[in-house]
Amino acid sequence: MPRRQFAHKAGGGKTTRAISERGGQGAKRIESVDRSKQAASDDVPREKPRFAAGLYIVATPIGNLRDITLRALDVLAAAEIVACEDTRVTEKLMSRYGLGGQRLPYHEHNAEGMRPLLLEKLKAGAVVALVSDAGTPLISDPGFKLVRAAIAEGIAVTTLPGPSAALAALVLSGLPSDRFFFQGFLPPKETARRRVLGEIAPLQATLIVYETGPRLAPTLTDMAEVLGERPATVARELTKLYEELRRGSLAELAAHYATAGAPKGEIVIVIGGADEAAARAAITDDDIDAALEAALATMSVKDASTAVAEATGRPRREVYQRALALAARGE
Ligand code: SAM
Repeated sequence: MPRRQFAHKAGGGKTTRAISERGGQGAKRIESVDRSKQAASDDVPREKPRFAAGLYIVATPIGNLRDITLRALDVLAAAEIVACEDTRVTEKLMSRYGLGGQRLPYHEHNAEGMRPLLLEKLKAGAVVALVSDAGTPLISDPGFKLVRAAIAEGIAVTTLPGPSAALAALVLSGLPSDRFFFQGFLPPKETARRRVLGEIAPLQATLIVYETGPRLAPTLTDMAEVLGERPATVARELTKLYEELRRGSLAELAAHYATAGAPKGEIVIVIGGADEAAARAAITDDDIDAALEAALATMSVKDASTAVAEATGRPRREVYQRALALAARGE
């Protein structure tokens, strides 16, 4: 079996990267990996690339382990310390790519104690990489206070950007991506959840919410009641074998998961903003019939009603009934 390739072949010439960090202590730069000195291994860079001291915020895959960038692998190979949310989770990624390096846990329960230690190491000139279990650190994950403290200390901070479930779900949702609001997790308790939903309801931006399988149905029910009739997408297990995208109105999705039960895996809910809701509300029955008539010219009743329901955000059942009536009239 051919070995998987991820390391750069030698001979690519010198690659210089730099960031500027404007802080109290002036511009700081993190730079330079000389790839011409890297070994030509298919699996692991044999010679550690050199990186300047600093804090590197490294995004990791949200499912598919091949969604790691070459530069992230360079930094993880070079880092004296890899601060991980859960060392066992990061171990899987590191061993997949044959990476060593000291792993230290940095999570919400030990962050207060670990932060001074990491800052000491950084001030002493260490390359420290921060990773979370999946995706981009700081996005519903630990790291913000460490970044803030590093900036305050004049330590160079840069990022190795990569996957984040929020953006992956947004781009697949079919909802407007020009303005969006990332909510992260809603409160688990119903009263608090509804209060937060009420706060974000007026936003004229697509809403992105992280959720767990067991809470999906109750959350969608609250959303349907507080946010009203809006188009939404449930994005599940993104980049994984059983990736699934289910689109419909909030009420339809709530009804589906109330009967289907709690789905397995990781979930993002993407919901149309208040402007989408208003636009959908402005669609009249005549508009629906016109769209259906056009669709029925080339599609079956079922396909036409699915297409029009998705495009207009109207409940599928209602659109299907109208399509049946139109089709009967046309016979
Ligand atoms: N930092 C991560 C990021 O950048 O996306 C998010 C971490 S947060 C603790 C974990 C949540 O992200 C999950 O509960 C789920 O809502 C979402 N998530 C992570 N991976 C996902 C995937 N492959 N598919 C769908 N949602 C995912």
